[in-house]
Amino acid sequence: MLSDMTRGADRLIEELRPAIADERVLDAIRTVPREAFVSLALRPRAYANVALPIGHQQTISQPLVVARMAELLRLRPGDRVLDVGTGSGYHAAVLARLAAHVWTVERHRALSEKAAAHLRRAGVENVTLVVGDGSRGLPDAAPFDAINVAAAAWPEIPPALERQLAPGGRLVAPVGASGQQLVLVERDAASGELTRVELEPVRFVPLIEGGEEP
Ligand code: SAH
Repeated sequence: MLSDMTRGADRLIEELRPAIADERVLDAIRTVPREAFVSLALRPRAYANVALPIGHQQTISQPLVVARMAELLRLRPGDRVLDVGTGSGYHAAVLARLAAHVWTVERHRALSEKAAAHLRRAGVENVTLVVGDGSRGLPDAAPFDAINVAAAAWPEIPPALERQLAPGGRLVAPVGASGQQLVLVERDAASGELTRVELEPVRFVPLIEGGEEP
């Protein structure tokens, strides 16, 4: 017999399917146990298609938005990925299912430590957690084939992140203050030039530039 959690994940996939065409992304969402990334009290709602609180006024993103951003990044199994705004670690875990390795940066040390425990609980081994200001990227691990930004940049995507995109690389980020839009940035493989496309409206917590927090 299927457990309630398995049924919840299957229901969630059926809800996402009309909006998400990439079966690899749907499979990643189906196989990452979202209940491992939320508190015990929220576990019954782990597979609802909603954002949930994770402490420090932050939230674990809505599965639909995680899936959409993963689809836009067109990840390949060999890709090296930077994820800005670890939060619970859930989004990083989904990206890690689709790529070779994920470096994820969080400014709240306490959230990063909890995320490390969540990732262990979920059996995810190809994620490196870093505490610091993700708006500066990670020059030591750059360039990245894909960059996922899970907090809203304003007034623009931090230039350091765009600089750390490999030729052919893709970056997705919410941009804006009160009204935000998803923006997809691509670096042309031949010319190295960047193109930016504005997509649908979204709602994320702000990307806060500057030092780390305990
Ligand atoms: N991806 C997360 C949810 C992200 S919420 C998940 O799957 O659970 C946004 C996160 O970005 C918050 O945890 C916030 O603390 C973090 N954040 C905001 N500004 C940041 C910065 N400059 N560098 C790193 N993390 C940042």
